[in-house]
Amino acid sequence: MTLSLDLTTDATRDALRARAAAPFKGELIGLSREELAEALVSSGIVPERQAKMRVQQLWHWLYVRGVSDFADMFNISKDLRAELAKHFTIARPEIVEEQISSDGTRKWLFRFPPRGAGRPVEIETVYIPEEGRGTLCISSQVGCTLTCSFCHTGTQKLVRNLTAEEILAQLMTARDRLGDFPERDTPAGAIVPAEGRKISNIVMMGMGEPLYNFEAVKKALLIASDGDGLALSRRRITLSTSGVVPEIFRTGEEIGVMLAISLHATNDDLRDLLVPINKKYPLKDLIDACRAYPGLSNARRITFEYVMLKDVNDSLEDAKALVKLLKGVPAKINLIPFNPWPGTNYQCSDWETIEKFADYINNAGYASPIRTPRGRDILAACGQLKSESERMKKTERLALEAMMIAGHGEA
Ligand code: SAH
Ligand code: SF4
Repeated sequence: MTLSLDLTTDATRDALRARAAAPFKGELIGLSREELAEALVSSGIVPERQAKMRVQQLWHWLYVRGVSDFADMFNISKDLRAELAKHFTIARPEIVEEQISSDGTRKWLFRFPPRGAGRPVEIETVYIPEEGRGTLCISSQVGCTLTCSFCHTGTQKLVRNLTAEEILAQLMTARDRLGDFPERDTPAGAIVPAEGRKISNIVMMGMGEPLYNFEAVKKALLIASDGDGLALSRRRITLSTSGVVPEIFRTGEEIGVMLAISLHATNDDLRDLLVPINKKYPLKDLIDACRAYPGLSNARRITFEYVMLKDVNDSLEDAKALVKLLKGVPAKINLIPFNPWPGTNYQCSDWETIEKFADYINNAGYASPIRTPRGRDILAACGQLKSESERMKKTERLALEAMMIAGHGEA
């Protein structure tokens, strides 16, 4: 059974209208400590000598306590709270829809205001609860410029990059909804890990290519892993790339998270067809970049994702070629049964074929879990995400757009 909850109430619509009509306010979420200090001081509401202390207070309220309203920051004077609210916003994005799959997977459709693109955008975020952990799959772009032939997101043109604030907002709003901030309740009947944090892991595997939005992704992940705030361990954050070779080293050096590579083929001819960025950065360059990934060891391996496509890349020959290709790279192999979407020509490999493939790889010494498809009934599985903006009625979209432009002229 799938439960679909439409959260577009009159109240949220009114809030959206109010936001559009209000003068522009700076966002505090997504700023580094230095930027936060600068924003407070240059707005004239915090004297320079107090900046450090105020940043510390705000950081705690925003990222440890998860408040989304200045009024809740009790150790800050009423006057300063009012000034903060006048200049800045820490509001969560609009949740257009929340869907809950029969297996506990949740998918949220978030709507963010336009930022130069002229219209609001919508993106999807997915929560996957398991026995010992809860993983949040976060989007980095609206759509994707790349066109991997088996991926639903790839059929949607890029609308824009998400900002650091929008990337973090997915994590923070999901934590709100799951009761994963202190003193919050988890919704009755929700499927979450038995103990510990409801969201213990992050994967940058939603819509978009994270390494084509490097700066915003870096800022967001540094805040997500900040020990005095959201405090997710970098070892529990995985960034997946289709193979943007020039940014791979920086990912390890500057963000320090775990790396996953969408490999899917073991020769350039086939990979050119499945993952077209391969024409720019072929397999040899990609594997060389993987070998040079900072911090790589047997305890910190790279995950290679391999989607199982019937009669395309699923033979025993392919399995052998895969083992040969990855020789000497500390690697995990993640076999992903292809998740179908409307209009695709690909099919998922037979279960027996996937098992044979996995056996071969296991025997060669690789842990090769087969990723159980999750949330298929709500199109939340890998590669099925595609923002609903395309499905939004044209009249509705135009009305919203007109409203936004009329509101504060932000193009
Ligand atoms: N753009 C990044 C991250 C998002 S995709 C990347 O490509 O790595 C997350 C994973 O799902 C990638 O490995 C992607 O190749 C895979 N994927 C895409 N479409 C899929 C589908 N229909 N079925 C199964 N996996 C898919
Ligand atoms: Fe973009 Fe990743 Fe989909 Fe390729 S697999 S189209 S890079 S989201």
